Amino acid sequence: MIVGVLGAGQLGRMLALAGYPLGLRFRFLEAAGETPAGMLAECLRGSFHDRQVLDRFAAGLDVVTYEFENVPADAAQYLNQHVPVYPGPHALETAQDRLLEKLLFQRLGIPTPAHAPVDDRADLTQALGEIGLPAVLKTRRLGYDGKGQMVLRDAEDIERAAFLLAKGTLLLEAFVPFQREVSILGVRNRQGQTAFYPLVENHHREGILRRSLAPAPGLNPALQMRAERYAVSILETLDYVGVVAVEFFEHEGRLLANEMAPRVHNSGHWTIEGAQTSQFENHLRAVLGLPLGSTTAVGCSVMVNLIGSVPPLETVLQVPGAHLHLYGKTPFRGRKLGHVTLTDEDPKTLQDRLVQLGL
Ligand code: AMP
Repeated sequence: MIVGVLGAGQLGRMLALAGYPLGLRFRFLEAAGETPAGMLAECLRGSFHDRQVLDRFAAGLDVVTYEFENVPADAAQYLNQHVPVYPGPHALETAQDRLLEKLLFQRLGIPTPAHAPVDDRADLTQALGEIGLPAVLKTRRLGYDGKGQMVLRDAEDIERAAFLLAKGTLLLEAFVPFQREVSILGVRNRQGQTAFYPLVENHHREGILRRSLAPAPGLNPALQMRAERYAVSILETLDYVGVVAVEFFEHEGRLLANEMAPRVHNSGHWTIEGAQTSQFENHLRAVLGLPLGSTTAVGCSVMVNLIGSVPPLETVLQVPGAHLHLYGKTPFRGRKLGHVTLTDEDPKTLQDRLVQLGL
């Protein structure tokens, strides 16, 4: 079977690495930029808006999926007329827009931070009146890794927000002084079978994920069940097929949904070594209509992103239980170049290894 993947970044690369043992083949399509997945499989270059490119990409594929969420929805819809596309275009469109996403959460009874759409200066004034300060102003579309958003704490910040207002439609959210950030990865296959990984604790700096701890330390079954209940309602309402990631703020015992990603996710990289079946393999199983694999964690894991630069290989590889993944990308500031996952049965040993890793 040949799997077509829109985008050819590191997530695509890890999908291919998970698919080869299952006998799968891959074809990627990348519009611009480097192609970490292109080192492993056929990679077409061309615009997602060009029907001829899409036809060439789709020829002979069994299924199409994507590894980044800013795929133009009309490209997904067009491909879907020829080849099954999973997750479906509707799920993609919802996850591309922070407002649609929040409205879906609300409709499903999933708590979210207070929020209001902002299209112009007058909306901003009104939204600030309702939500107050501090608040976070975000572009509704195309934001990632903390880009396209700013925290508003005072009148000066509100003045500085003019540059965001020029970027189009926005969302104002209450700033949540959360205890921690957690995420859940769920997966649903074409037959409707679902499975969930344990909640993970995520640490961000400058809006970029630095570290994930899996399972989230001190995770209690009630919190896990609540996150699963929220995730299953999203999966079923959207008739979703594939892996979804839902990010939450944990605040005063509640889980407030921040956003969802309609794809495999950075906070699930630990599953390659730290779970019985990785998120990448389960995504492939799901979109191909195969039975899902166990999502049980094998001991504890810490995943550390390598951002902007890569340490000497020896430094990482000398640490027992360290698994290094490099994506083959050109280093520059703020760029995810790879990750290291440490796994161990004993959380205390894991902590010692993390210190030894020195990252
Ligand atoms: P996002 O792109 O929405 O995932 O935001 C990136 C990061 O900014 C999040 O992981 C949080 O650390 C922080 N952040 C975003 N929204 C809020 C909020 N409403 N309150 C507090 N922190 C936030």
